[in-house]
This record gives sequence, C-alpha cells and structure tokens, in this order.
Amino acid sequence: MTTKPIVVKVGTSSVTTAQGSVDHEVLRAIAEQIVTVRSRGRDVIVVTSGAITAGWAEVGGGRPRPHDSAQLQAVSAVGQPLLMATWRDAFAAAGVVVGQVLLSPHDFADRRQYLAARRTIEHLRALSVVPIVNENDAVADEEIRFGDNDRLAALVANVVGASDVILLTDTEGFFTADPRLDPQATLIEEIRHVDEYMAMAGSSRSGVGSGGMASKMSAAKMASWSGVTATIAAARRPQVILDVLEGVSGSGTVVRARPERLSARESWIAFAAPSRGRLVINDGAVLAIQRRASLLSVGVVSREGEWIDGDALDISDESGRVVAKGLARASSADRDASDPIVIRADDLVTFPVGDAPVRLD
Ligand code: GLU
Repeated sequence: MTTKPIVVKVGTSSVTTAQGSVDHEVLRAIAEQIVTVRSRGRDVIVVTSGAITAGWAEVGGGRPRPHDSAQLQAVSAVGQPLLMATWRDAFAAAGVVVGQVLLSPHDFADRRQYLAARRTIEHLRALSVVPIVNENDAVADEEIRFGDNDRLAALVANVVGASDVILLTDTEGFFTADPRLDPQATLIEEIRHVDEYMAMAGSSRSGVGSGGMASKMSAAKMASWSGVTATIAAARRPQVILDVLEGVSGSGTVVRARPERLSARESWIAFAAPSRGRLVINDGAVLAIQRRASLLSVGVVSREGEWIDGDALDISDESGRVVAKGLARASSADRDASDPIVIRADDLVTFPVGDAPVRLD
C-alpha cells in the first residue's frame, strides 16, 4: 500500500451554510471519513476555504457581502478561527488533533519558505496531527494572492508528494454541459488529457467561493503535471472521500496524473506566478532550453512588457506558441548588456509544444 498522503480540499460553498456560517455537519462528516482513511494507513491534509464567508456572517450583520478585497481579507481574520474551531471539534470526536497552516503564493516561490512549510507539514504528520491549510488571507498581498484554494490545494499536493488531491465542491464533478441548465448533461468520469476539456470548463461559478469549474480544472491540470491524480467530487455525497479513493463509479471526475512530475517550484513558475511579460526566442534557443540550458540574450528576438527581477515571463517561439515560462534575472528596465543570461536554467520550465499550462492570472 502506498504511504503517499492525500489532500482533501473543501470549498466555501460546502464548508458554509446558506447563511454563511460554518456548517458543522458537513465538517463532521468529512472528518469522519478522513479518520477512516487514516485508519487504513493513509495520511490526509485538509485544505479548507470558508474563512471570508464565515467572517462576514459573523460581523456583516446580514448585509450583502462587500466586494472590497481589503475588507474581505480583514474579515477572514474573524472567520479563520471560527473555521478552525469547527474543524477541531469535528476531529476531536475521534480523538484526532488538527493544526492550522496558513500559506501564501510566496511560500511556494521562495525555496526556503517552501522547505519550511514542507517541514512543518511533515512534523505535524509525524505527530499524527491533521494539517488544515488555508491561504493566509488576512495579510496576503492582494496582487499575488491565490484568491481561490484550488491552486493552493494542487501546490500543497505537490509539496507533500501526495498521490491524490480531492476537490470537494457543490457539484458531482465535471459534466458534458451545465447540469442546472441541461437535463441531458452527463458526468465525465475520467479525463486523461485535461487540455481537451479546459475550454468546456468555461468560467462557471457557484454563488459563493471564488473557484468555479474553470478553476478546478486548472488546479487538476497543475496536479496532473505534478504526478498527482485529481478528483472533483461533491462534498455532501455520503462517503465521498472513501468512494473516490476506491474508484467507485459515479463518485466524481478523475483527472489522471502525467507520468512526469514537476517540482513544487516548477509548478509555481508554470502555473501560479503571474506573467509580467513575454520573450520571443529563436529556434536555437528553444532547443537549448529544452535541453535544460539557460536562456541567453543572443537567443531573444523580442520582448514585451515591463517587469522586475524575479517576475515570471512567458517564453514563446517565433510562431507565437508558448514553449516555456521562467523568472527574469533582471528587470526590463535594467538590462546589463554584458550579462548573457536572461533566465537561469533553474528558473525555467519548458512545455511540450502545444501543451503549455493554463494561465490563471
Ligand atoms: N481562502 C479563502 C477563504 O478561506 C478561500 C475562498 C474560496 O476559495 O472560496 O475564504
């Protein structure tokens, strides 16, 4: 039996009631299933949403939820402890202790932060504690925060070397059409090449939460590139986690993992870091970076955009196809003509032509 952990992400619409407060029953049912999974020898890491919605239910006095993101980030500080208290109670029934881990995109981009986060999760697991992860909304940088937890869950799955990430939401999976509008819509149970379905995911959204199907499919794609199997399934389906892990038919949409896996840092560069510009490179440079060489200025045909050092850039061939993404070594304004390296090999992720990962920014 594999001992790789499993990441279970629960979305806002599943964690909270129609009034916006934390749904104790749902959390209790999910915790019970996780306890069963653990008794079978598999560790589980929970990624939970719901802090903002629960916080607004507490302080909003019944008023409609504001759109101002600074205010939403502030109310997450109210909701996060309420969320954690409910998770704590839900697991306490089985004598299992939980621990809170709040992460931001920076924790995946910065190698030392990434190692620190991984170490903390490993220590919690060694202590038999269930790590409960959310984005550090209260202090997250508005420009670069994840906003939804789907990508966060995919990156956590990569960091901990998970076998599976299960994205629990308010629908049973990915359908051939919107099941609320089309009675003929059927559940797609297995996806091998996620790109073929990305366009179908559209920008569907449920009422609360910031995810939606497009965000889930993008996260599934990130997971798949990280060698992690992703499943989109209904949080309120009884025994959903157990059914997904046993491969029960109809329990959700499974997106299969690619055999090659990107490291967490490569996943971050490829999927999470917002692109600030584009470099068009010649065919010689395309071949060189595909052989894991650095990108040299001699291979750059043209540049678009403005960026500072460390920003992510799309890299395309002369026909405009994105072939790589990487982190700039110098700002667009501050190019040192004597420095031949534009992007170091370690800061580059190359993609098979035609298979560039989706951009979420
Ligand atoms: N970190 C956000 C929260 O806890 C997630 C929002 C979402 O994905 O719905 O509210």
